[in-house]
Amino acid sequence: ASPGDVPLTARLPGAPVPMNRRHATHKGSYGDVAVVGGAPGMAGAALLAATAALHGGAGRVYLAPLDAALPALAPTQPELMFRRPAALPLEDLTVVCGCGGGEAIRDLLPQVLGGSRALVLDADALNAVAADEALQRQLAGRAGRPTVLTPHPLEAARLLGTGTAEVQADRLRAATELAQRFGATVVLKGSGTIVAAPNQTPWINPTGNARLATAGTGDVLAGMIGAALAAGHEPMTAAWQAVWTHGERAERWPAHRPLTAGALARC
Ligand code: AMP
Ligand code: MG
Repeated sequence: ASPGDVPLTARLPGAPVPMNRRHATHKGSYGDVAVVGGAPGMAGAALLAATAALHGGAGRVYLAPLDAALPALAPTQPELMFRRPAALPLEDLTVVCGCGGGEAIRDLLPQVLGGSRALVLDADALNAVAADEALQRQLAGRAGRPTVLTPHPLEAARLLGTGTAEVQADRLRAATELAQRFGATVVLKGSGTIVAAPNQTPWINPTGNARLATAGTGDVLAGMIGAALAAGHEPMTAAWQAVWTHGERAERWPAHRPLTAGALARC
């Protein structure tokens, strides 16, 4: 630290060490995130992920919507830059892929899996991978480039070719098996979220509560992990810090008010 550095967040007991904003830096120092998602009817998922990445400290955030009408929402979050997916400089980007992806995300996955510097795959991107062996091979072939998968139990079950009950019966095993199979860091969501990575001891998140059981909170988490990856954290660290903070925000939320994902993204 040097004089003039400012802490990004207050340090709470047990919390991740806050990332300092060093004085002699610029927006390029904190990494670029691109969110690819937001199919028709699902614009909110992509906007939530992108908003969470901004509030997570990313230097710049692009939004590449799958619904051509989505840029009309630009004034709701003026910091975002809207791009066509084909116009993204993938090799420089941390891509958060699948939030509100619909069926259309499948056609973009070969490009995103092949080209992105770092990657978070969520929701419909995971479902597309689960349904396509060529994409599974491509995902496994990324080993070495930062990759985080964020399935909830049903998405994990689809990837493993099993059922939700089997996943929930041994969550540690399911997360570890997925991590090993795809050579990626896996965040198995739900009460007691598990973070697992190949050949590392898995970690169980102690924060969070059922206020998070509401639409869009998973999209927010994906955006937060994207920001942490873009800042240069290695995938296991990026994932657990984002998961911890996401849950801790829910714990700090006032007791008598329901939490919304939009508010969670902006905490
Ligand atoms: P998704 O299933 O994609 O909508 O994501 C929901 C998010 O909320 C994940 O990060 C879950 O871990 C979290 N969540 C949902 N319900 C609970 C709960 N009862 N306790 C803790 N976290 C939860
Ligand atoms: Mg989700």
